[in-house]
Amino acid sequence: MQNAGLLKELIQNLCSLPGVGPKSAQRMAFHLLQRNREGGRQLSQVLAHAMDNIAYCRDCRTLTETEICEVCANPLRDTEMLCIVESAADVWVIDQATQFNGKYFVLHGRLSPLDGIGPDQLGIDQLEQRLHSGAIKEIILATNSTIEGQATAHFIGEIALKANIRATRIAHGIPMGGELEFIDSGTLDHAFKGRREF
Ligand code: ZN
Repeated sequence: MQNAGLLKELIQNLCSLPGVGPKSAQRMAFHLLQRNREGGRQLSQVLAHAMDNIAYCRDCRTLTETEICEVCANPLRDTEMLCIVESAADVWVIDQATQFNGKYFVLHGRLSPLDGIGPDQLGIDQLEQRLHSGAIKEIILATNSTIEGQATAHFIGEIALKANIRATRIAHGIPMGGELEFIDSGTLDHAFKGRREF
């Protein structure tokens, strides 16, 4: 087949998306080329633009195209409450599903010594600085309820308690091993309201 090289390359690259195997990638590639070339061009432009312009917020480390994200820059958000999450996706999920009106801190992972992920990789230094700034009164530990997520919550909870900051942990309704991103919004909202003293 002519041009098989480029088509093959397109399919292989689509496979880098999570949950997309060779069959789905093939379907996507053919769909864009045969039925939606304009959509494909637009997708490639937005993708390139996003990859070049979206970085991490200076304060909370979530994804943003400005130096400080919308949540951190919003003067109406409660600066005394800090919700700590594993991923930038969790910020979106929590903000949509719950009434939480404080600020966030994104770890980009969880403690996992076997994988070489320790406090340095999770920005714990930066988090400690924030906790010692005197502005924060409560942290909500919203890491996933996997074993590593629990260990991470415990580690950060200890730091908060030493800094005389109230630490709570969302628990109610989150199944063991559950990842926040995949929990329905009602359950997550309930988990926030039912958070417990750490
Ligand atoms: Zn931010």
